[in-house]
Amino acid sequence: MSTSTSYDEALATRPFKHEIDKRDRRALSERLTVIEHGPDVYQVYSEEGIEYLVDIREPSCTCPDFIYREADCKHIRRARIEAGSRDLDALDTEIQDALDTLDDHIASLAAQRAELVRLRRDLDHFG
Ligand SMILES: [Zn+2]
Repeated sequence: MSTSTSYDEALATRPFKHEIDKRDRRALSERLTVIEHGPDVYQVYSEEGIEYLVDIREPSCTCPDFIYREADCKHIRRARIEAGSRDLDALDTEIQDALDTLDDHIASLAAQRAELVRLRRDLDHFG
């Protein structure tokens, strides 16, 4: 039956958290100011006005995140976006995929909610 199928699907629902990289999220959403300093070299200013020097070719950055974690920090990612050297279509696809997955979860949760509402109504027949 379709009812039991949707209920089983609903039970399979697990908490969802998208996997868009936090440094990509910050590179896109924070108010960073990027100024071209030379070939492949950029000054990136944080929201607090702190200046970092980024070389997108190495890559390297003078921020603690890059120095201590050796990850491509939000400054490098933002400079690449501004320089046009980041594949924005790939990033867009990644975000769209996360949205699609989230929509599936929302639909599954809605099915689970509808099933619970029906169960409560069924329970009322016995009260
Ligand atoms: Zn950095």
